Amino acid sequence: MKKITNEEKALETFKNYLKRNDILNKTKIALNNFIKETNINLSYLTRNCLKDDNNIFICKYKELSKIKKFLNTNKDFKTLQEEYSSLSSEKKKNPTGKFKAYEEIKIFFENLYNNFSDCKNPYEIMTDLNVRACPYCNLNYIDAVIKEDDRSGQKEKISNDNKVLREHFDHYLPKSKYPFFALSFYNLIPCCYECNSALKKNKMTPVHPFEDNFDELAVFEIEFAKEMEHYNFSNVKNININIINKHKKAYFHKNLFELETRYKYRKDYACELLAKKEIYNDDMIDEITRRLLGKNYSKDFIEAVIWGSCLNPDLINERPLSKLTKDIINGQNNPRLNYQRNL
Ligand SMILES: [Zn+2]
Repeated sequence: MKKITNEEKALETFKNYLKRNDILNKTKIALNNFIKETNINLSYLTRNCLKDDNNIFICKYKELSKIKKFLNTNKDFKTLQEEYSSLSSEKKKNPTGKFKAYEEIKIFFENLYNNFSDCKNPYEIMTDLNVRACPYCNLNYIDAVIKEDDRSGQKEKISNDNKVLREHFDHYLPKSKYPFFALSFYNLIPCCYECNSALKKNKMTPVHPFEDNFDELAVFEIEFAKEMEHYNFSNVKNININIINKHKKAYFHKNLFELETRYKYRKDYACELLAKKEIYNDDMIDEITRRLLGKNYSKDFIEAVIWGSCLNPDLINERPLSKLTKDIINGQNNPRLNYQRNL
């Protein structure tokens, strides 16, 4: 929901993983084999995208888009992809010639990702990114938990017994369609199971969490029921949570992730916030702040105590429902005022 901008530490961790496992050299060999077997000219890739300091694994999404465009407009590569996908399942079992080479390069990149998944590296990256709430929906926590021995130990691979839990990395550009980006840092989006597996699957959203700031593209607004005399904060039927697009990207994003439908199930939380907004007048907030400030609490912490989440837009990715909280508390839509106006 908030653009991820603090990825330096995670990217450094990722680069170290690539180096330790000699990923770049292995890729050069695999790609050269593919080119030799198929005679397809991929010189753009081999020349520009496998450099030590900038390559397909660490380049920003804009560069990945250029590579994607190159692959999509490379006639020979496109034809091979199309011919391969129209092969019968029988032929796919034992592909030959250029089809075998295509399958091998696909499997090579898929395995790069699978091996990475079995290591503690993705757990470290999720921790280093400090994205604790799903950046697509801001509804669920995304925790990366491994046993302490594995976190501090020398071994890269962790046994299945010691993986406690880790949420998913979504492949922003789906790996079934774009296998070359299976292990590209800016194509790996930490997110919740619901967003990745139940909703996005192989589809695309125009909102890239490392490039776009959904917080600026849309705003949550509360719509109140018309029968104001029956207005009651404890009745969720009295409100709707709407997501107002400020940019057309938000429209596609909220539809893909069914955000309005999913946030309907958080109307109880929104009602409690509206009640708090009524209860806490400025004097009360000043009084709570004054009491807590004496104990050296930060403004963000004090806001979280009062509202359940701080209102700082920079911290939206640290806690689920923080964008909803911020937008409701900062919103001008005050039910009592509407009620009085209607009298
Ligand atoms: Zn999510």
